Amino acid sequence: MRKTPPETKTTDTLRVASADGAIVAQQWLAAFAPKIRPKLSEFMCDHARSDDGAKIRPFPFQSDMADSFTDPETAQVSVRKSSRIGYSTILQSFVAWRIKYDPARTLIYQPTIDDAEKFSRDDLDPVLQWSVVRTVAQFKPRHSDNQIRAKRYKGGWIQIKGANSPKEFRRVTSDDVFLEECDGYPWASKEEGDPARLAFKRNLTSPRRFSAAGSTPKVKGFSRIDSLFEQGSQEYRYVPCPHCGHMQTLVFGDGTGAGIRWAPKENPTRAWYQCEQGCEIDEAEKPWMDENGEWRAHNPGAFPRHRSFHIWAAYSQHPGAAWLEIAREFMEVRKDPNLLRTFVNQVLGEAWAERGEAPEWQRLYDRREKAMRLGTPPAWAGLLIGAADVQRGGGGRIDMDIWAFGPDKKRAFVERIEVFGPIADKRTWTKLDKEVSREWESEDGRPMRLARVAVDSGDGENTMEIPAIGLKTAVNALIIIGIGGALAPLFAA
Ligand SMILES: [Zn+2]
Repeated sequence: MRKTPPETKTTDTLRVASADGAIVAQQWLAAFAPKIRPKLSEFMCDHARSDDGAKIRPFPFQSDMADSFTDPETAQVSVRKSSRIGYSTILQSFVAWRIKYDPARTLIYQPTIDDAEKFSRDDLDPVLQWSVVRTVAQFKPRHSDNQIRAKRYKGGWIQIKGANSPKEFRRVTSDDVFLEECDGYPWASKEEGDPARLAFKRNLTSPRRFSAAGSTPKVKGFSRIDSLFEQGSQEYRYVPCPHCGHMQTLVFGDGTGAGIRWAPKENPTRAWYQCEQGCEIDEAEKPWMDENGEWRAHNPGAFPRHRSFHIWAAYSQHPGAAWLEIAREFMEVRKDPNLLRTFVNQVLGEAWAERGEAPEWQRLYDRREKAMRLGTPPAWAGLLIGAADVQRGGGGRIDMDIWAFGPDKKRAFVERIEVFGPIADKRTWTKLDKEVSREWESEDGRPMRLARVAVDSGDGENTMEIPAIGLKTAVNALIIIGIGGALAPLFAA
């Protein structure tokens, strides 16, 4: 293009310059015309293939999430998700879209190098053989441009890294950074810093940087995807009730209000969804609900720059995510806190909070407790521990939770004991003494006693008095006085 300093421009050169400008503008428009770069959902409809070669049609809730990847206004996408909602198909399709329409330097971080290799073989290689990709790039077997963790094509490359090695974050600059299952990354080391943060530094200097993270959350308070979700637009999927039209998000519920319901209780053979207004919704209505649903941002300030989505199995039309399947799975895992934790992460797509930290989980525990034999430590239990919490209000009360601990950090809630009376009164502690010296019988008939009792006085006001007044007759119990979060290490995973 001609470069003319403005001060020397004549009318003629101005005309020439503006004609040049028009041509350039046309080229730019052409380059960004929507027909040339389809939205990701449209691209998926036309080109995405499942492992068996069948066409994939995204569901409405997936389409909007997918389109955020190709929206030029969006620089970051964070998806907090359960399994069975098709996130990997969206990411796979986006990689194919990149190769076809918009080559870039793409970094994909998996939790470990092993995961990276597995992802490359099982999830990426099939995509590179989609016919839409093969029209623009050939990834030949055993070619130097087609290594397991490093692929090269005209105008771009893809590298798949493992977040478990500091070396994987060095000496590489990209346009895209994708974090896969970032809650499964190892924890930050003092020297190196947090792996997710290190990964996001890799594209800071790119003028066209795009970042995305998708993960099942793990532990509340330590979840990377939770904090990314908070930073973004916080979009939840609202769907209408087919009976009353009321728009609502789907929740698991606690068996009283809205949520998934089933019968019979112990061995579900039928499940439905109870609308916030009380209507009974059949599984068969799910496609209609999704079709008429919409994403709503709870933090619209971040829209559309950083879009974050929360989605879980109840929305999915995957047969394994039917409401009846979710109910059955819950009934199978409810007695074991470790399995229940996996269920909360993998099926509900939520971070796991320990008892007491989050009131909503209290309700889930309660729902589980009703279904288990209270007061019986499981057969694998090797140790019983009591955690007592002093409540000063309402005349005074001591709540003591009995927990069973076993091999491989296994643990289960056994029961809650409540002792009523003023905290300063000796008799209240004598009553607790009785409970502490009790014997429990495990599922396999062994007598068990508390090995330890932790007392958390909450405000710390009476910490000195507690061991002095009570619990002296406890046979084996070792008393720990906890202040504030001092109980946390006992229950840390
Ligand atoms: Zn309704």
